[in-house]
Amino acid sequence: MPIKNRFAEMHPEITGWRRDLHEHPELMYDTHRTSGIVAEKLREFGCDEVVTNIGRTGVVGIIKGRTDTRGHVVGLRADMDALPIIEASGVEYTSQTPGKMHACGHDGHTAMLLGAAKYLAETRNFDGSVAVVFQPAEEGGAGGEAMVKDGLIERFGIKEIYGMHNSPGLAVGEFAIRSGAFYAATDQFEINVIGKGGHAAMPQAVVDTTLIASNIVMSFQSIASRNAEPIKSIVVSVTSFRTESDAFNVIPETVVLRGTIRTFDPDLRTLAEQRLKDIATHTAAVYGGRVEINWMRGYPAMVNAEAETDIAADIGKKIAGSVDADTPPIMGGEDFAYMLEVCPGAYIQIGNGDTAEVHHPEYDFNDEAIPAGCSYWAELVETRMPA
Ligand SMILES: [Zn+2]
Ligand SMILES: [Zn+2]
Repeated sequence: MPIKNRFAEMHPEITGWRRDLHEHPELMYDTHRTSGIVAEKLREFGCDEVVTNIGRTGVVGIIKGRTDTRGHVVGLRADMDALPIIEASGVEYTSQTPGKMHACGHDGHTAMLLGAAKYLAETRNFDGSVAVVFQPAEEGGAGGEAMVKDGLIERFGIKEIYGMHNSPGLAVGEFAIRSGAFYAATDQFEINVIGKGGHAAMPQAVVDTTLIASNIVMSFQSIASRNAEPIKSIVVSVTSFRTESDAFNVIPETVVLRGTIRTFDPDLRTLAEQRLKDIATHTAAVYGGRVEINWMRGYPAMVNAEAETDIAADIGKKIAGSVDADTPPIMGGEDFAYMLEVCPGAYIQIGNGDTAEVHHPEYDFNDEAIPAGCSYWAELVETRMPA
């Protein structure tokens, strides 16, 4: 069963919604226009319930099937937020707000889930209920966590939940997924290295913060090479090395280091945090300085449940003819992780074709993927809760 015919008919309409969202990108939790449009459309489609302001600007629509003999509820989730990027895609529906851009395709995700909601509300060819979940602030704001904390799962009795993200480089209409850890935990750190500044020609009178900070940066790589089990993945990246002086002849009083650690394994995540703190603290002490460490715990690793991954892979295969069910894990983060921590489910990638990567100024969601994405959602519901 490839694309559902109804979505071929609806393709121009859904493309119109997608391009309108693309022209009006909104960041983080400020998705007021987008959330408003989503809620308005869900009501227009005849959803049985439309709830706004879950997780601040999140929206949930409930669609009841023709029957409900088991009380089953399937959740389908899309993200709505854009990125602070100056768009260079050159498309005619380019962002009307300079410095904001739908560079991760969340405009496409929102439009596809709206399309599926319209179809499901029209046909209701299933036994149970669907919760269509539209979340804000995926890009670093933990909007998924905010919705979970607002009781998303219990309030609507969601028993299993699914997510979807476009993937540049994967052919349009194709799907890729993996069971287990798929996206990484994303923690960040800021380290203030404090010494004693002074004249660069009088090293005996200073505590050299650039020397301390350089040693810290070098030693951090031993977390990956010496502390982590070699078969477990970890990335330690120092991304910023800043001092208050750019003079040639001054040893700065402080150096600020920033960076990120990415892991899949929770024990390795804890170990890496501890090692990072120990290395920074003791290295500074060796040279007579000290550190202040701000550890910012980010998204947890996103882990696909085994049974639901198999279900999702089967649906992907039904739509596309084949599916990559063992695609490599990604060291990037994804805040659908919070929903998967409290509810079984799976997250699948859908091909965006040969386009710029996500978060690139030339990226654009591929509208040709819409029928496959919508069909995946609809087929998933009809298969999981057969009428
Ligand atoms: Zn993104
Ligand atoms: Zn994204």
